Order: sequence, then C-alpha cells, then structure tokens
Amino acid sequence: MTLAKRVSALTPSTTLAITAKANEMKAEGIDVIGLGAGEPDFNTPDHIIEAAVRSMKEGKTKYTATGGLPALKKAIIDKFIRDQGIDYKPSEIIVTNGAKHALYTLFQVILDEEDEVIIPIPYWVSYPEQVKLAGGKSVFITGTEENQFKITPEQLKEAITPKTRAFIINSPSNPTGMIYSKEELRALGEICLENGIIIVSDEIYEKLVYDQHQHVSIAQISPLLKEQTIIINGVSKSHSMTGWRIGYAAGNEKIIKAMTDLASHSTSNPTTPSQYGSIAAYNGTQEPVEEMRKAFEERLNIIYPKLISIPGFSCVKPQGAFYLFVNAKEAAEITGYSSVDAFAKGLLEEANVAVIPGSGFGAADYIRLSYATSLANFENALTRITSFITRKM
Ligand code: PLP
Repeated sequence: MTLAKRVSALTPSTTLAITAKANEMKAEGIDVIGLGAGEPDFNTPDHIIEAAVRSMKEGKTKYTATGGLPALKKAIIDKFIRDQGIDYKPSEIIVTNGAKHALYTLFQVILDEEDEVIIPIPYWVSYPEQVKLAGGKSVFITGTEENQFKITPEQLKEAITPKTRAFIINSPSNPTGMIYSKEELRALGEICLENGIIIVSDEIYEKLVYDQHQHVSIAQISPLLKEQTIIINGVSKSHSMTGWRIGYAAGNEKIIKAMTDLASHSTSNPTTPSQYGSIAAYNGTQEPVEEMRKAFEERLNIIYPKLISIPGFSCVKPQGAFYLFVNAKEAAEITGYSSVDAFAKGLLEEANVAVIPGSGFGAADYIRLSYATSLANFENALTRITSFITRKM
C-alpha cells in the first residue's frame, strides 16, 4: 500500500523510539532505568482532578466552542496578565489538544509551500517535522555550547531570506534547559520586526526555572513584539497534565481565527473534561506548581555535580525544564564507539539505561537525560553509566 508523499518523508520521533525499545526490554523482565521521560513524574494536583470529575458529574460532557470554553480562555487571559503583564482578547486565544497541536495547527495556517522557518539547533524534535507537514522548509542555525546553545542576532540575520516566514524560539529549551534573557530576546525580536517574521515562542517550560533564572516572554518586551509573536503554552509541564492534552496559542487575531477554523474541521474542540480541569489549574492555587518546580531544582542541584564527574561527560548546567543535555563525544571515544548514537544504544543494551540520543535534536554529539524521575532512580542510573564507561576505557 502506498502512502501519501507528505507522510513518507516523516521521521518518527526518536524520543518515542528509544522509549519503545526500553519498554520492550522491560517487558522481557530486564531492569531498565528510563531517563527519556518528557513529562513530570508527579500526579496532577488533586483540585484539578476533582474539578474535572465534578464537571463530568454535572453533565458537562458535550462539545464546546472549537477554540475552547470562554471560561478557560478567561483563565488563560488572567494568567497572561498575572505572569507576563500582557493582555489578550478572547479572539486572540485558541485552546488546543496540547501545545504540540497548537504548533501543528499554527504551521498549517501560516506556511505556504517552500516558506522557510528558522529553527535553532538543538531543537525540539517535532518542529522540523511539523514544518515539513505544512509544506514549509526548516532553516537551521546552531546555538553553540560556548554560547549556552543560544543563537546570536548575527546568526539569525544571516539565515533570513525573502522566503522566511517564521522563527521559533523555545525558552526554557527542550533539550538544553537554557533560557534567553530579556536583552537577548529583544535583540532577536528586533530583527524579526525589521523583517516581518512571525515569532513562534514556545513557552511550555515557563514554570520550570531554577536558581536565579527567570522566564521572560518575548511578547512582554514591547507592544510591537507582542503583535509579532504567537505564544505557545499549556498545562502539560507546569501542572503535570501531559495526558490531559490541553495547550493554547495566543497572538494575532487573524492567525488565531484561521487556526480555529482548521480545528473546527479536525478536532472540533479540546476534550471537554480536560478544559474544566485546566480552568481549575489556572484559577486555583499555584502552590503545587511551585512545589514541583522546587523538587526539580533540588534534584538538579544534587545530580548535576555527580553527572559532570563522569569520565567523558560534560554538560552546561541547565537553567530550566527537566533535562540535562550532555556532551558525550569524549565518552563515546574513550569507550570505543563510533558515534554518540552507538554509545547510547550500548548504554541501553549493556547498562540498561535509556537516554535520548542528541541526533534527534539536531546535535549528534549529545545525549539527553531527563530528571523527571526519582532521585534514587537517577543516581542509580549514574552509577550504571559510570561503571559502563570505566569498564570499557
Ligand atoms: N514544546 C516542547 C518544547 C515540548 O518539549 C513539548 C512536549 O514535550 C511540547 C511543546 C508539547 O507539549 P504538549 O504535551 O502540551 O503537547
């Protein structure tokens, strides 16, 4: 059976592939430690679950407006005022089935064939695939480790062509955990303004920031930048609600309307009980969000020094999210592997530790380790990794 060209060019998610292999090994009874998780390891806070259950018992189980319940849009608008000091109208917000779906729908409505999207490397795995699915072309620029994996205004300028339509910025970043400062964002934003480029700001890790670091949205820097930016966010990571599938986009009314029209023919609406849960997530206490943030911060500060003492590993300390993006080039070399991908495969097969190879993020010398797992699990994994490397040195 032949498939459409559109999907035959798709690269399956590497994150999911290694997780599938690790799960297979687990099913065979092998004690695998998974450091691949892309979701918080906490349960969704009780008051959110209770609100969703209550809504279902009250019979609120029907279709809603395509772009989301007015009460949820209001809760999101209030959140933007509270956290970023920016004001959106309901017509400038669409609630989607997760942030991933907000991005997918956005690219579908802003890209024509061959339109270019500038994507900094390392990137979140789905960006290039989603751009491809919309007929667009990804143009990559590499953030160097020396510059904390962040791209510079000069790099952005050089990548712009008459076909450039959008620029994606993901801060805090998956996979690196790096955060752009207000000044860095302003400089990049000005270039986008000068060239009429849409800024796609993926802020899904907004609440997971550590030590003295702070999240700033590029849209809050100036009214002009707000006009130029589509913010992507959601409750998945902040409120540990990955399975609820609620995300949203905020920005230009015309773009949001087009996204809503498209959703009206694809999803109809985001899942109704999840929307009621999300209203409680934003309108209720934010204490659990802060508790989870603190737990991640504590873990990071315990594991980071241990991680960088592993032979052949180096890692810029992340400032947010829950990943460690480790340069494992030397580790692969000293253990006799031809590539970091092969090293990661060896690590899974021989030391039973599942990590995500950086090649899926456009950075083949790296591996991504998630600390969205218990401290004991992570420390156990570090012990296994250390003995795997020292045994082969
Ligand atoms: N953006 C980034 C950078 C992510 O890491 C993820 C999830 O892993 C998403 C978006 C998607 O979030 P959601 O689960 O809300 O679709």
